[in-house]
Parts: sequence; C-alpha cells; structure tokens
Amino acid sequence: MSHSHPTPLRRTLLALVLVALALTGCGREGSPPVKGPKTSELPQYTVAKDFRLPDSPTWVRAKRRGHLIIGVKEDQPYLGEKDPASGRYSGFDIEIARMMSAALGFPPSTIEFKTIASANRETALQNGQIDLYVGTYTINDKRKKLVGFAGPYYLAGQSLLVRADEKNIRGPQDLAGRRVCSAAGSTPYQRIRTEYPRAILVAYDTYSVCVDNLLTYQVDAVTTDDAILLGYAAKVPDELKVVGEPFSREPYGIGLPRGDNALRFALDDALAAAQKNGDWKKAYDATLGLSGVPAPAPPPIDRYPAT
Ligand code: GLU
Repeated sequence: MSHSHPTPLRRTLLALVLVALALTGCGREGSPPVKGPKTSELPQYTVAKDFRLPDSPTWVRAKRRGHLIIGVKEDQPYLGEKDPASGRYSGFDIEIARMMSAALGFPPSTIEFKTIASANRETALQNGQIDLYVGTYTINDKRKKLVGFAGPYYLAGQSLLVRADEKNIRGPQDLAGRRVCSAAGSTPYQRIRTEYPRAILVAYDTYSVCVDNLLTYQVDAVTTDDAILLGYAAKVPDELKVVGEPFSREPYGIGLPRGDNALRFALDDALAAAQKNGDWKKAYDATLGLSGVPAPAPPPIDRYPAT
C-alpha cells in the first residue's frame, strides 16, 4: 500500500523517535512512563525470619552465598525492565522475584538479577548460573523435562503487534507471505513455525529488537504474549497496535532447577500466600496493571508431583 511505504525519510524519523524515547526515558505527553512505577509505590514484602530449607540444594547454595541469583528479562515494559541509568530492574516479574526472595528468607534488596534471553533459560538453570528464573516463562511439558516450574502466577496468551496503519493483519491466519518476528527459543516462535508455516518467520534474541524492526519496516508483525506486546504498544501508541484475540495459553511459571522439589513446593506455598494476603494484586497494580488491563484473578497453582 502506497501510503504506508517505508520511505528512507520515514525510516530515519522513526529511528530518531526511538532514540529520543530511549534517551529521555519517557514517552509522549500522556503516555505511561518508560521507567515503570516509582519505588515508593511498590509493595514491601515481609522477609521470612529464621527460614530454612535444608532439603533444597539450590536454597542451601544461595544461603552460603548470602543472596539469590535470579534470571530475568530487561527489555519487557511493565514485566521486566532495566533502567539503563541506575541499573535497576522493575516490573511484575521483578516483583514476583522479590516476593519469592522474601519468602525464602533473603531480603529482596540483595537479589542479584541477571538478564537471560528466552533461548538460554534452560541452560542457565541447568548450569547453576542462576537459582531461579522469573521472566514471562511459559510452563509446558517439554520444558518440564529440563527444568522445574512453580506457579503459574499469571496467564498470558500469544498475540500480534503491528504498525498502527496496518489493515491486513488481524490474526495469525493473515500472516501468509508476511514477515513476522519473534524471539528464538520461545513458544510463540515455535507455534508460528509449526501451525502457520506460510508466514515468513524471523528470529532475534529479544522482542525489543523485533519491535525496532517493525517500526523500521523490516518486518510486518511481532508475535509473543499479549502482556509483553501491550507494553511495547503503550510506549508508542501512535505507531503500534495489538490486534486480534490471544490464540494460545501461556501460563507463566517460576523456573528452577529440575528435581529441587523442596524449593518448588516452597515457592508454590509462597505464591499461594501472596495471592491470599493481597501482595500479588498490589504488585500487579503497581506494574503490569499500568499497561491498562485490570488485575485478573490469579490462575490456580499447579502443584505437580515430585520429579
Ligand atoms: N511465554 C513465552 C515463552 O516462554 C514467550 C515469552 C518469552 O519468550 O519469554 O516462550
């Protein structure tokens, strides 16, 4: 379509908008702040006193070290985002990580966060590079063969992000012959590959690189979970939109080393307690809720048998 053709000038302008947004750390007037919630508005979690979990090798190792090492994302607005100036992480996944740290007896301020891409999560947990992973990590049977999952703590669904002026992509069935971008090693990538083979699939390490490619007309759509895409759309609402209905179920779990059942059950207990005492909702409202979706009922915890 001629009106949406990517002229070099348009590309340059969009690239400039992106750079400007990154530099100023804020969106257009009226759009949500890029850096996420103010620290003062975030809930405080009670650190469990004299907590011990001697049957968990992961917990014992963290105890000796003095803190938890938790793998997260750093480029997913409202979920897991790192402020480049301060190095601080924020978002709903980060709050879940802080909640779990407190429940395991480690003050949240002591967490060592490590950014780990979708494709590297299982290896990082298997190598002991991280103790836990909290970053839009879908629980499924294939991954359960490699790692353990506490939770779920949230239910997302795969969706599509397109440029605001896109008229022909309304769902995954419209992707034939179009360029669609997702993260390597993700469930959305895999689903397009197997169920929509006529789409031209492009993979990068992160969704933020996909979004840059969408804004500069290198691809026509980005696909991943609705919760992630809504965050990108909220930053440049004039340029991007999320279309159609979610077409999968993506229950988010806390990844942990496989076989550490003591740790998994302790995390399941901690999540259940956070849902009950209101911490879960407070955390949601202060983070992911800012993308415009009111707090849903948290999904039931799947306390599967010891592995
Ligand atoms: N929830 C999906 C997954 O775990 C997509 C998001 C992500 O890549 O983290 O693969």
